[in-house]
Amino acid sequence: MNLYVFDMDGVLWAMDDPIPHACEAIARLQARGDLVYYLTNNSSKTRQDYVEKLARFGISATRETVMTSAYATAQILRAEGHVGKSVYVVGEQGLRRELEAVGMRLVEHAEGDRVDFVVVGWDREFTYRKLALAHAAIVRGGAAFIATNRDATYPDTGGRTLPGGGALVAAIQTCAGVAPRTIGKPEPHTLELILRATGASPQDCLVIGDRLDTDIALGKRVGARTALALTGVTSLRDVEAAAPEQRPDLILRNLSELP
Ligand SMILES: [Mg+2]
Repeated sequence: MNLYVFDMDGVLWAMDDPIPHACEAIARLQARGDLVYYLTNNSSKTRQDYVEKLARFGISATRETVMTSAYATAQILRAEGHVGKSVYVVGEQGLRRELEAVGMRLVEHAEGDRVDFVVVGWDREFTYRKLALAHAAIVRGGAAFIATNRDATYPDTGGRTLPGGGALVAAIQTCAGVAPRTIGKPEPHTLELILRATGASPQDCLVIGDRLDTDIALGKRVGARTALALTGVTSLRDVEAAAPEQRPDLILRNLSELP
């Protein structure tokens, strides 16, 4: 069995621009019967949103083949028996909908009450009020602190970056004085869920991404093979400077070079 797990930003597209050869390379894998999954730390969209975005780029996918840090967080909470428990969410619609879909109870006014979880993702409407509510839920409400991801930045147009979910997590961590449990890459949970769903072993799996500290580190941690695509944020010089646990097995100028 061959399982290919693709990061999306910087591998399949850059913001709203397709990356050359990506669509054709994936169609070729699918045509010969290989399993293709898509994996992102971005928690702002649902899996269905990604199926639709992939379709706009000419890439066929089903909800079952899309893994996001938001979906993984919801699945882990469900698997650990927390359905029906209360969650204060710092995050966007994708995260809220994935948590609601597994039966988590979203609360808006954590202050004063007991709250079971504070779950944090990328939130472009983050405010001091949200910070204070998250702080109160953890410090006074006894909530467990969960980060969907720790990404410092998120790619913007023209090679610029925006503050990522990790920047918001850091603000909450600073005032609450507690480190979160992190779900997204490079933590193993998302890839472990894909391996479990497919029945593939790590040796059957190639993780393709454009970041050494998330995509490649994740693959190596789980024991999968790794390929760095030079179509995103990482250059050859970065690879030469990387620590051994972040060095990819393969380096691809673009996805036409996929084995
Ligand atoms: Mg990427």
